[in-house]
Amino acid sequence: MQPTGSGELHIGNYLGALKNWVSLSREGVYDSLFCVVDAHAATSEYEASEMPTRIFGTALSYLAAGLDPDRCTVFVQSDVPQHMELAWYLSTVTPMGDLHRMTQFKEKSEQFKQNVNAGLFTYPVLMAADILLYRATVVPVGNDQVQHLELSREICRKFNARFGEIFPEPKPKLTVTPRIMGLDGKRKMSKSLGNAIDLFDEPKVVEKKLKGAFTDELKLKMGDPGRPEVCNIFTLHTALTPAGEVQQIDAECRSGALGCGSCKKRLTETLNAELGPIQARAAELRAQPERVLRVLESGAERARSIATQTMADVRQAMGMNVRAPQS
Ligand code: ADP
Repeated sequence: MQPTGSGELHIGNYLGALKNWVSLSREGVYDSLFCVVDAHAATSEYEASEMPTRIFGTALSYLAAGLDPDRCTVFVQSDVPQHMELAWYLSTVTPMGDLHRMTQFKEKSEQFKQNVNAGLFTYPVLMAADILLYRATVVPVGNDQVQHLELSREICRKFNARFGEIFPEPKPKLTVTPRIMGLDGKRKMSKSLGNAIDLFDEPKVVEKKLKGAFTDELKLKMGDPGRPEVCNIFTLHTALTPAGEVQQIDAECRSGALGCGSCKKRLTETLNAELGPIQARAAELRAQPERVLRVLESGAERARSIATQTMADVRQAMGMNVRAPQS
C-alpha cells in the first residue's frame, strides 16, 4: 500500500486487502512479506518533510490491524533498493503499449495533468518488481489492482521466456469484498475522494458517516422491500458480519422488515466492534514508536537478503556478470 495522507488507511484498504493479509499470515501456509510502497508514492507531488510520518503511519496501521511481525515480514520499499534495480531490468521486457492501456495511468494522468511523470507511466513495472523480487506466488490485493497484476504476470512470462525460468507467475487473491464503494455509493472508497471511513475514525464519527451513507437509488420508505444486491451497506455487512446473520439481513431487507436506518445501526455496531481493538493497538504503538521502527528494520534486513539472492540470479540470467565463466 502507498503511504497516503497521514499514513492512515480507510476501511476500503482494510476490507479489500489488509484484512486478507492478516488472515493469510496467520494461516501460515505462505511465507509472507508486506511493504509500504513509498517509492510508488513519489509519483504524486508531495512534501518531502511529511513522507516519514506517512510511512510510519501506514506501517503502524499494518501492525495495528493484526500483522504479526513474528509470522510475516513488514518493511519499507525504499529500504530495499533492489526493487528499483529489478524494475529497470523488467522495463526492458515491458511493451509500451501495455503500459498505455493501464486504467490507473489514464485516470491519474487525467486527474494530475500538471504532473504526468514517467514514474506514473512505469508504475506497474515497479509493482511487478515488488512482487517478482520475492518470487511471490500469491498477491492479496483489491479489485483495482487486478489489471496491474495481470501485467505483472505478462512481464514475468516475457522475462522467463527471454532469460530462463527465474520467476513463478503470481496470482491475485481477492477478498469477498474486493471493491468497497464510498459513502456516496457512486465511486470506490478512496481517501482523495472524501468518501471514506478511516480505520481510526472514532465510534461517533463512524455512526455519523454511516447515517449519511447512500443505500439504494430508489427512495425507499418504511416497509418497502429493499435490494441488498445494489446496496453498499449490505456489502459492508458481508465483509464484517458472520455469514448466518448476513443471510438474515438479506431476507429482512428484501421483505421490508429491516429498514435502512436499523440496518445501518447494526452495521455501526459491527464496524465499531471490529475497529475498536485495531484502534487500541494503534494507540499502544503510537506510545512506543521504537517498536514499529524495530519491526521495519528487521523486516528490511530479511527482505534485502531475499532480494540480494534474486538479483544475483537475475543478473546472471541476463549475462550481467563479467566474472561468469567464459566459454
Ligand atoms: P496502491 O496499490 O497503489 O498502493 P492504494 O494504496 O490505494 O493503492 O490501495 C492499497 C490496497 O488497498 C490495494 O490492494 C487496493 O486494491 C486496496 N483498495 C484500495 N481502495 C479499495 C476499495 N475501495 N475497495 C477495495 N480495495 C481497495
